[in-house]
Amino acid sequence: MPHNAKAHAMRNLEEEIIDQNITPELAEQAQRLVIGDGSLDAKIIFIGEAPGKKEDETGLPFVGASGKFLDQLLESIGLERPDVYITSIVKYRPPNNRDPKPSEKEAFWPFMVQQIEIIQPEIVVTLGRHSMGYFLPGVSIGEIHGQAQTVTIGGRTVKVVPLYHPAAALYNGSLRQTLVDDFLKLSAIL
Ligand code: URA
Repeated sequence: MPHNAKAHAMRNLEEEIIDQNITPELAEQAQRLVIGDGSLDAKIIFIGEAPGKKEDETGLPFVGASGKFLDQLLESIGLERPDVYITSIVKYRPPNNRDPKPSEKEAFWPFMVQQIEIIQPEIVVTLGRHSMGYFLPGVSIGEIHGQAQTVTIGGRTVKVVPLYHPAAALYNGSLRQTLVDDFLKLSAIL
């Protein structure tokens, strides 16, 4: 798909989410939809949980404390935000940053699949259990983090690499090191 067509498709997707009143409870309390950010031609897409306060304020994913850590991790393997695409499974901030409900993740899933169809990445990196659960149901993060799995999504075969969420690793020294090491594995897969 040419770049312009991708940009158009992504804008349509945003409008559909708003017009179809997806997750009305979240939509009502959030300031805005956080669809995602980065290159629509990226080879790799990172998928987190849901926007937090800063993301809700700015409309951009991963711009708070965990976003700064994600930027460092990207830099450690020679990548910058414009090289990748970043989004979250749920695209409105849950009130008080509570966990997204299964029904909310489910409501956004068809749009997540469409985003992957638009971007056509080779690698999907799930950040944390909320997005991992959809791409790799029934697995345990402790057992498969950093290991690429082959998955078919929307008729497209991609490598899914499950990683810990940067927010979980931010203040936990050993998890932090695991995430740093897993990024190096990601770099080898790229
Ligand atoms: N955590 C997420 O999972 N997504 C964001 O956009 C920000 C923090």
